[in-house]
Amino acid sequence: MIVELLEFTSSGIYCEKADVYIDPWRKVPKALITHGHADHARSGMGSYLASEAALPVMRHRLGTIDAQGIPYGREICINGVKFSFHPAGHLIGSSQIRVEHKGEVWVASGDYKVENDGITEAFEPVPCHTFITECTFGLPVFDWRPQAEVFEEIHAWWRKNQEQGKVSVLVAYSLGKAQRVIHNLDGSIGPILTHGAVENINEVLRAQGIDLQDTRRVTPEITKEEMKGALVIGPSSILGNPWLRKFSPFETAMVSGWMAMRGNRRRRALDRGFVLSDHADWKGLNQTIESLGCERVITTHGYSEIYARYLRERGLQAQVESTEYEGDQINENEGS
Ligand SMILES: [Zn+2]
Ligand SMILES: [Zn+2]
Repeated sequence: MIVELLEFTSSGIYCEKADVYIDPWRKVPKALITHGHADHARSGMGSYLASEAALPVMRHRLGTIDAQGIPYGREICINGVKFSFHPAGHLIGSSQIRVEHKGEVWVASGDYKVENDGITEAFEPVPCHTFITECTFGLPVFDWRPQAEVFEEIHAWWRKNQEQGKVSVLVAYSLGKAQRVIHNLDGSIGPILTHGAVENINEVLRAQGIDLQDTRRVTPEITKEEMKGALVIGPSSILGNPWLRKFSPFETAMVSGWMAMRGNRRRRALDRGFVLSDHADWKGLNQTIESLGCERVITTHGYSEIYARYLRERGLQAQVESTEYEGDQINENEGS
């Protein structure tokens, strides 16, 4: 029996030769973690290894853990297998993990985005024989516009709300999307207020030296005067929550790749939807795979069946493996 360099087991992506798991979903002794989102970085592992930049958020979310950080690009050897972490462009500190043994190279991409958003370490294509890719937005309908255009739209919406005496409430993932939005917003338009779930992450990132423009945590003491012309950023749990009432009158919008599907905005009773994702779109996935020169692609969460079929039609070896990663859900589970 040929043992693959990486295998999909009931506990996670396993490297038997090194006896380590990548983003495991069951408790294992040694975990290599691509990024701090709850479905990839779970609690209860014996030890954790991640990029240096990913560690502060992981410690914040997972509590006391036995964890070690490694700079991007540095190679470590475990039982003769070489591992290195490379920027995935998904959120600050996110990694693709390169695994090499006797000249055979695999890359587990975790979640990734090709566009440089200005705050996240830029995605690095890592040549390999086998590439494990997410497929969150693996359909041709997902075709992102450059983020500068999206921010122009957001700024126009914010100004229009100000003219009408309304507060702008923007729903964004508290880890990753919220900071990308804050970094790229024109803060001269008005104050940027944050829900605690967002501000807690901001504090962790600022403490590690990330330059985020000023934001202000929403507290019960905040006055109507202080909310005037503001843009408020919070997770999806604020929708329909009494917490929102204090901002009346307000308008709501969500920044998400899912806003490319019209029904999602209507279903959430949002006033606006802005299409901005921290995952690769259809062309991003294809460009990446073409640039790697890989022979084989393993597709995981998202439109993995459809995308694998498409790759096979293009002459690549492609197979689907099931994982317990949740993909980018429209609802953020703040509890985990
Ligand atoms: Zn993620
Ligand atoms: Zn994922």
